[in-house]
Amino acid sequence: MAPPEAPRVAGPIDERRATIPCNLCGGDDVTVIGRRSRSGAALRTVACTACGLAWSDPRPHDVRRFYEDQYRVDYKGAFAPKPKHVYRAGQVALSRWQRIRGLLDGPKKVLDVGSGGGEFSYLLKSLGHDVRGIEPNRGYAQYSIDEYGLEVWRGFVDDAPLDDVAYDLITIWHVLEHTERPASVLGRLARALKPGGLLVVEVPSIEAVCQAPSSTFHEAHLYHFNRVSLERMAMLAGLRCESSRLSQDGGNLTSVFRRPVTAVAASLEAVDDASPIRCPGNHERIAGIVGAHTTISHWLSLRPIGRSVRRWRAMVGEAIAVRDGVTGRLRLDAMYAAARGGLSNEPVDTASRGWSWSAVAGAYVLAILLDWLLFDGGLPFELHDVGAVGTYLLAQTAVVFVLARRARAAWPSPARQTLPVACLSIPLFLLPVYC
Ligand SMILES: [Zn+2]
Repeated sequence: MAPPEAPRVAGPIDERRATIPCNLCGGDDVTVIGRRSRSGAALRTVACTACGLAWSDPRPHDVRRFYEDQYRVDYKGAFAPKPKHVYRAGQVALSRWQRIRGLLDGPKKVLDVGSGGGEFSYLLKSLGHDVRGIEPNRGYAQYSIDEYGLEVWRGFVDDAPLDDVAYDLITIWHVLEHTERPASVLGRLARALKPGGLLVVEVPSIEAVCQAPSSTFHEAHLYHFNRVSLERMAMLAGLRCESSRLSQDGGNLTSVFRRPVTAVAASLEAVDDASPIRCPGNHERIAGIVGAHTTISHWLSLRPIGRSVRRWRAMVGEAIAVRDGVTGRLRLDAMYAAARGGLSNEPVDTASRGWSWSAVAGAYVLAILLDWLLFDGGLPFELHDVGAVGTYLLAQTAVVFVLARRARAAWPSPARQTLPVACLSIPLFLLPVYC
């Protein structure tokens, strides 16, 4: 990786000028769209008035040292992934695979840039693809090699020895925003693709309003994209956009680009006509969205409540799921079993694969039994009252169904869902007794 660009100016920073030129259009005419990171530290974020690309200016840290060691520690408090991180990353890997499985018709040669703890690479490898990974963090890269037998090159994508015309598919999930020169990274990856090959890029969207405004910017993200700036940057790298979509909460932008079968130079010529390095209106759009996303508007939107509930639920699910203490590989093997089966076209999602009938039935019987044994069947009505008994049983069944469905997300094994579902059901079963 080349050293970071030297600031253009010394001394006090001009509010309207960037110290680092725009990586998309080369301009330095900017507006400031952020002044603090999510940690509360000073962090100036600027947006280019010509194209709308946004970046941290000046750079908040020594990029190399930060990503090699500090990044994972800052974020996750560990050099190697803990069991809950493996579980979480395994779910993310399944979700990513769901989104790109349509691109994986037959065995592919795949490069996963920013392979992290190796969960996504391992999933693709176990599905029969020939996968290489690139990961700068020493602990995570070594873990993925030792635990999953992956081929991972440890270092930055800028430095990685990439063969030209080598890959059918390259994925770069949540990495581009961390790089010092995203445009040159896209160019390198475009050259490493075979003609017709695909590049999948996912980045946080600068237009996202699902997070608190104070969490929009932080030191780890050097660049911020929206659809326009990402697509333009990829076009400059000679890629053609196949699709772009936002995640349901608007937080992430996923784009699929194709290296044209014809020469890349020809494709570049074509985009020149479209003035790829100026994106009229894009700066105004981004500055408007970021400016309008205030703390008051955020709380009035009630999004924080939904987000907190989802986070809390995920945390509890993770804590419960990893209590068995199995190794990362065994855990992922269990989580990926359905994907490997490959017999169904149904989405594979451990959290929403429907009822686990045996768990529901088991929980129901156990709950009734415990109810009877511990509380002597304290039903609030006479057993000969058929209508009341029927209503009560229906209500109990509904409770068990809901709890079993929640438990399904936490415990892949139906047998392990039974006891907690039954125990959670008991207090609810007894409510009518005391009402
Ligand atoms: Zn620009």
